[in-house]
Amino acid sequence: MHAQRLGRLTPYVPGEQPQDRQYLKLNTNESPYPPSPQVARLLRDTDAERLRLYPDPQMTRLREAIARHHNLDPSWVFAGNGSDEVLSFCFYAFFDDDRGDLRFPEHTYSFYPVYCDFYGIAYRRVPLTADFEVDLDRLGDPDEPCCGVIFANPNAPTGHLLEPERIDAFLDRFAADRVVVVDEAYIDFGGRSAIPLLARHPNLLICRTFSKSLALAGMRLGYALGAPERIDALLRVKDGFNSYPLDSLAQQVGAAAIADSDYYGRMCRRIAATREAFSGRMTDLGWRVLPSAANFVFAARPGVGGADVYQALKAEGILVRHFAHAGIEAFVRITIGTEAQMDRLVETVGRLWPG
Ligand SMILES: *Cc1c(COP(=O)(O)O)cnc(C)c1O
Repeated sequence: MHAQRLGRLTPYVPGEQPQDRQYLKLNTNESPYPPSPQVARLLRDTDAERLRLYPDPQMTRLREAIARHHNLDPSWVFAGNGSDEVLSFCFYAFFDDDRGDLRFPEHTYSFYPVYCDFYGIAYRRVPLTADFEVDLDRLGDPDEPCCGVIFANPNAPTGHLLEPERIDAFLDRFAADRVVVVDEAYIDFGGRSAIPLLARHPNLLICRTFSKSLALAGMRLGYALGAPERIDALLRVKDGFNSYPLDSLAQQVGAAAIADSDYYGRMCRRIAATREAFSGRMTDLGWRVLPSAANFVFAARPGVGGADVYQALKAEGILVRHFAHAGIEAFVRITIGTEAQMDRLVETVGRLWPG
């Protein structure tokens, strides 16, 4: 009754979104702060009558707003229904494994292998360094054929950040006819973007999301930046799948949000400051906290397994994320919330596992 490919599918398992009880949700890297007041205003003033019409399939106004924010031409911008969809289109458009495996870090966004399985792309996981850093040398290994590379910067779930100079040097050495996708879902929390490298490296594609640093996870908006030839390829995939993945409301909200860089700049700086203070307090309590440039930290309590930390905190009404993957099973990933939320977590941790 079902197509055979359905049985071969391994779906991604998103972080819990419990609907039963109120948890302090520090498990899916949502923003603890609301989106820009411009978004609330736009939603208040929206006329339902407009929804009679189909949205703009080219997403012109949204792409223009994103382009303006990054000082690019709109022909360098693609937008989609969450960065998950944009990433999925990238895998479809650029990664053809008749030229070798796709390479990505061993511990990274766990949707990457899911897309590979979905599209039948062979892949190779490249171990992190002993300090849990993305190993660019091994990702760029010239001796093994590969069809492309993807990594998140900062990486998830570790938070490790690569500077653009190192990515530039990596791209200089890497095959110019293979696409490199840098997933910058968390770059706004203190990292320097690889966007200035786009002009020099036509094989570079940068993916971004509105879900974290623009506090719009519920709206489903993401985008990719790259040379017009790459963007045209993504538009082609979109039109081979769904001409209207972004509804008209999402397109308007996205354009209004990304224009308010003052608001979001303040929000992200505040989250980064909370992260630094929280990391210091956890370290004082005896935890190992990896340096992070994201809106989360990857932390481990020596002598206690990550799964046990996760369970004990859940019993206290606090959700964090644990990954049962060999090599990182001692850690939990903790989203940075408000100062008050982190106070509650530090208090709970201090009580459960006294320093
Ligand atoms: C959250 C996240 C995404 C997905 O973002 P959406 O726009 O919500 O689909 C993509 N990549 C990484 C690394 C993420 O953490």
